Amino acid sequence: MRCSICKKNDAVIFIRRKGYCKECFIRIYERRVERLVKRFKLVEKGDRVMVAVSGGKDSLSAALILNKLKDKIGFEVELLFIDLGIPTFSNVSKKSVEKFAKMAGLELHTIILKDYVGKSLVELKRGSRPMCAVCGIVKRYIMNKYPKEHGFNKVATGHNADDMVEFFFTNWLSGNFEWISKLKPIIPSTHPKLLAKVRPLFECTEEENRAYAKLNELPIVQAKCPFKPSHKWKKIVNEIERKVPNFKLNFVKSLERFPEIEYESVLRECKICGEPSSSEVCSFCKVVGRAN
Ligand code: AMP
Ligand code: ZN
Repeated sequence: MRCSICKKNDAVIFIRRKGYCKECFIRIYERRVERLVKRFKLVEKGDRVMVAVSGGKDSLSAALILNKLKDKIGFEVELLFIDLGIPTFSNVSKKSVEKFAKMAGLELHTIILKDYVGKSLVELKRGSRPMCAVCGIVKRYIMNKYPKEHGFNKVATGHNADDMVEFFFTNWLSGNFEWISKLKPIIPSTHPKLLAKVRPLFECTEEENRAYAKLNELPIVQAKCPFKPSHKWKKIVNEIERKVPNFKLNFVKSLERFPEIEYESVLRECKICGEPSSSEVCSFCKVVGRAN
């Protein structure tokens, strides 16, 4: 099969019944991301961006593409990895991230959770709260605090279009509309101590990121997190995509236009750590307090 774009080279990647050669796929993927970055001003001249990398295909692709854009736009990029102390998984993820940092020539900052709070993720989990919920609280906290303390003004993550569609459904069903209005390529800072969060792969599907990572020979971690629950929404969303071509892309494009909802929950500062919080004590300090 020939590439559906140039009609010359052999197709090596097949997505939604179309084939692409390496050069054409990389070109259209990078063009889509660059357009999103410019349209939503995800990064601008003079920014210092810390990319939170897990070693997976999404975050390493996000870091690679931001690294390619940094000179063109004029911003700085460094990497952040949080070693959560998950047996085996954290070690292999760390190796992937270190390999990538070397390959891309990017500075890597590694935070070892056990050193940071005196406890690993497993030790922080208490009661019936799922491990993933504790993990999310810890990661969000560190991904804001650490880059801020090191002079960065933005944090980039590898969140993709599939994540956005899944988040939409789960938050919609629990009536969490404030979160839905935050499903955007950029979440601007709403507090002096809160960094802006950017999602350069907002319009890229998981399948496209996997292809991009493969074509660029990124050293992605193959292991799966042992705590990640089986994603029933992933299957449902993929099923819809099979029946409704471009469902995911059209869905995230609608999310881009979804109105921003003003809520009363004003951010204040946690009375224990001083970080931004919607309640007197932030979720991170609550988790740590309970574990102690
Ligand atoms: P997840 O919460 O696992 O779905 O990951 C969402 C995003 O958070 C990823 O695309 C990464 O940008 C970031 N991330 C996840 N795990 C880590 C980690 N251990 N260290 C740094 N960033 C991470
Ligand atoms: Zn706190």
